[in-house]
Amino acid sequence: MIKQSIEAVIGACNGKVICKGIIEYINGVSTDSRRIEENNLFIPLEGERFDGHKFIEVAKNKGASAILYKKGKHIPMEGLNNVYIIEVEDTLKALQQISKYYRDLFSIPFIGITGSTGKTSTKDMVSSVLACKFNILKNIGNLNNEIGLPLTVFNLDNQHEIAVLEMGMSNFGEILDLTEIARPNIAVITNIGLSHIEHLGSRENIMKAKMEIATYLGDDDYLLLNGDDDLLRTLKNQKSSYKKIFFGFSPENDIYPKNLMDLKEEGFTFDIEIDGEDHHFQINQPGIHNVYNSLIAIWIGLYHNMTIEAIQKGLESNIPSKMRLEILKLKDIKVINDAYNANPDSMKAALRVLEGVEGGRRIAVLGNMFEMGDFAEEGHRRVGAYSVGKIDILITVGDMAKWIGEEAIAQGIKNKVYTAESNKEAIEIIKNIIKKDDVILIKGSRGMMMEEIVDYLQERS
Ligand code: ATP
Ligand code: MG
Repeated sequence: MIKQSIEAVIGACNGKVICKGIIEYINGVSTDSRRIEENNLFIPLEGERFDGHKFIEVAKNKGASAILYKKGKHIPMEGLNNVYIIEVEDTLKALQQISKYYRDLFSIPFIGITGSTGKTSTKDMVSSVLACKFNILKNIGNLNNEIGLPLTVFNLDNQHEIAVLEMGMSNFGEILDLTEIARPNIAVITNIGLSHIEHLGSRENIMKAKMEIATYLGDDDYLLLNGDDDLLRTLKNQKSSYKKIFFGFSPENDIYPKNLMDLKEEGFTFDIEIDGEDHHFQINQPGIHNVYNSLIAIWIGLYHNMTIEAIQKGLESNIPSKMRLEILKLKDIKVINDAYNANPDSMKAALRVLEGVEGGRRIAVLGNMFEMGDFAEEGHRRVGAYSVGKIDILITVGDMAKWIGEEAIAQGIKNKVYTAESNKEAIEIIKNIIKKDDVILIKGSRGMMMEEIVDYLQERS
């Protein structure tokens, strides 16, 4: 962070100075008292389990030069001399307001990425491409929410040339809040799936919520949309002040792959027509959805005047975040670790990868998919139906995942279906059946923590 005057920070969040400190600037913002550094601003947040206000003294002792607190909270003034104490109505709101103020100091391009699935994967791929020419800022890991995004913005400094920001949501208004901070010039919606349908009721509403990302796009700005998505496609004929670019496999899209070759676990090759000429690209990640993510990255690279060679280099050097379709070649088996998260679409994509990986028996260990409300049963059943003919053994983990197995059986799966209540039980089942050359896919919602099964498989090797 470039250092900011306390005065500017107070102005940004409508703060009231309760006690004047001695140092007139801050050089960083933190909501975590353990990470406070000399002359940082500490913003305590109230969570479900913790109240950051309890750690104000710790923050001061670690060198905070200014501290925000929520009006009405008791804070231990005695220990806090020489530090700016600033009262605000709401500390989370203040964090966002200060972040917005700070973002507005930069006139570089901002890219905002939302969508039901693939935000982090797309952010990584876009960043990897742009990094071959520019100094970029991106969210670390999955810090994409009302706290993570503002904190990411504070990492901007004068060296950065482009910011690539992932924006997550679970309800209406959340993308709007993040958009007000990030003010993207290029906004991306990867797809409209079923995640968070329990809050929003329908895919149409999910699209509406994601479209909040376009609120402030101006004449020269772009919205990139998945043109193969039945809902996003309907936006084609809608008038907008900003420009729309559609990506996808259908040739009706503005950018689409030709001569697509599936290299199975090695990734894909394809051509893209640019100014009437075909250019060859390769990605090193399996999973057909990664081709979509790469179309976004290629378009953004071209838009920023990158050469084809530089874009290709960026695609090749992309290292996906952990637990996203990571293929682990262990001693005698292969494991596809996709344990980060799951919804019906990404389950299907992962099953396709499992089908393509070279090896012996295909074992799918599939856990519950959460956040699907009334669609939960149907969503799980769809995965079950899809798995038939693609795998040798199915192990379901959890109460909802049972529907996957039930449907697979109803649809005539010829092979063995096991049901486990927990990861522990699934590990016991695997122990009994595992054989040399097995290829094992592990996937479920975040709450299922299915990396526990991956850990077991790694330890046994
Ligand atoms: P979160 O909402 O948790 O931040 P996310 O949108 O960032 O999730 P990723 O972490 O990129 O999503 O990917 C989660 C899983 O979705 C991956 O493991 C992969 O299986 C799948 N995936 C990645 N990209 C896409 C895509 N474009 N379309 C569908 N599925 C995808
Ligand atoms: Mg993410």
